[in-house]
Amino acid sequence: MKLPSFEYLRARSLAEAWALHSEAEGDAVYLSGGHSVVPSMALRLQAPSRLIDISHIAELHGVDLQGETLRIGAMTRHSEVLANPLIARHAPLLSRAAPHVAHPAIRNRGTIGGNLALADPASEFPAAVLAMRADLEVTGPDGQRMISADDFFIDLYETALTLGEVLTAIHVPLPPEGRVYGFDEIARRRGDYAMVGVAAQADVQDGVISEASISLFSVSVTPVRAAATQEALKGSPLSPDTIARAQAALATDLDPPDDPGFPAERRLQLARVLLGRVLNRMEAVQ
Ligand SMILES: Cc1cc2nc3c(=O)[nH]c(=O)nc-3n(C[C@H](O)[C@H](O)[C@H](O)COP(=O)(O)OP(=O)(O)OC[C@H]3O[C@@H](n4cnc5c(N)ncnc54)[C@H](O)[C@@H]3O)c2cc1C
Repeated sequence: MKLPSFEYLRARSLAEAWALHSEAEGDAVYLSGGHSVVPSMALRLQAPSRLIDISHIAELHGVDLQGETLRIGAMTRHSEVLANPLIARHAPLLSRAAPHVAHPAIRNRGTIGGNLALADPASEFPAAVLAMRADLEVTGPDGQRMISADDFFIDLYETALTLGEVLTAIHVPLPPEGRVYGFDEIARRRGDYAMVGVAAQADVQDGVISEASISLFSVSVTPVRAAATQEALKGSPLSPDTIARAQAALATDLDPPDDPGFPAERRLQLARVLLGRVLNRMEAVQ
């Protein structure tokens, strides 16, 4: 299907992007990889009169260590997330999530910033940044602010970004020694959006879990932090008994939608099974 007509403008700087956005008085969208904007326009789900290409803005590019965090530029494409050695070392949940995102053709264009700004509830990266306790760097005409991933995802396709603000980077705190990770999802076919997914990290000291951070996706309108499940893990070894307690705690954390084709109880059961699978296979970065 042909796209509705629109004006295409390329911004060379953040200031230019905000100015072009403000001129359009709400009738503009930013364009990064275009792999959600363009299909949604083709399907007539949206018809902005202006697309502002932000893919050439320098501040959105690059993956660098900055003090105690890894800064990942918003324009980092999914395929780069998959291949980048700094991400593999310091933000391994993203490297593990990336192969599950769509297919190579989409991963070659789609960007982590576009993916997080879209906030699809079935998407892998939002759950990964939540589990990693990352901060999202957001820049607008009024300056820059950092938003914790816990506060970024507000509702279905709704984030804490205000009109015209640009998500410029993701800051992942560097992991301590002894951290183990797990990520998996259940999808009807490889590359499809998940029916349910789990991202998990845990710090293990002297064989006991001192801290755990778990999130699930495709279980609600946003990715969900599994607070009760985290508590069930803390202070215990990662043993079959502990894992069973964590699986039981999921019922406190989740209130999945009750879809006639996918009842809530079935989704909860899939989540329990997947959580058990992920916790049984937690491993450190090699
Ligand atoms: C067939 C198909 C299958 C897919 N499967 C999956 C999947 O399994 N899992 C998954 O997670 N995704 C999937 N996707 C989505 C894909 O990962 C997209 O690339 C991603 O969701 C959006 O990234 P993008 O760079 O293409 O963003 P765009 O399409 O360019 O933008 C998406 C939205 O974010 C806004 N935006 C973009 N960048 C910024 C920024 N830096 N700051 C503020 N706002 C911004 C745009 O204005 C727009 O509203 C799939 C897409 C397709 C077409």
